[in-house]
Amino acid sequence: NNDINNRSVNTDDIQRHFPLCAKNLMYGLKEHHHLRYNGRQQLSFFLKGIGLSCDEAMQFWTEAFAGRVSIDKFNKEYRYNFRHNYGLEGNRINYKPWDCRTILSKPRPARGEYHGCPYRDWNPDRLTSELKKMDLSQQQIVSVLDFCAKNEYTIACTKVFEASHSSNDSVSDSVDDMTHISHPNLYFERSRKWHE
Ligand code: SF4
Repeated sequence: NNDINNRSVNTDDIQRHFPLCAKNLMYGLKEHHHLRYNGRQQLSFFLKGIGLSCDEAMQFWTEAFAGRVSIDKFNKEYRYNFRHNYGLEGNRINYKPWDCRTILSKPRPARGEYHGCPYRDWNPDRLTSELKKMDLSQQQIVSVLDFCAKNEYTIACTKVFEASHSSNDSVSDSVDDMTHISHPNLYFERSRKWHE
């Protein structure tokens, strides 16, 4: 009963459970019909982590690159790498989806790149307007920006999760091991559970 496929990952119904890093990658992909290497890796592992099969992933990436990359070029230059991420080529390692620590350990995104963590990589103005769109209150936004300023990116992300998945306005001050979100796939799973 896996409902994650090439079609569903492009719907709001699934994307509303994505953390900001994954939303940003989907946005960049849509905008450019392409992502540079680290972005492709980060998104490909995230989608694998939510249950996108290798076959569906090939569909997803060829369609996403269409208009910019021909099927021929895709097969020559990109296919191997995406299959490799599923452990189907080369050393056949079944790679685990990246956690936030791995994501934060990569080089920061340059202009035109979409990998990384928005809580680290975006300036406060850009974050503020995004968080407003997610209906966070002014007070909640201030608290999130505060954690970003202290380099506590995963806590900032956890706070955003709490604020957007709670029926009351208050956001607790503490984050314990049980509630701390340190993996984009955990964010996704928890969000889906919460909405069940
Ligand atoms: Fe993604 Fe982790 Fe950053 Fe949240 S803290 S946006 S899950 S990298």
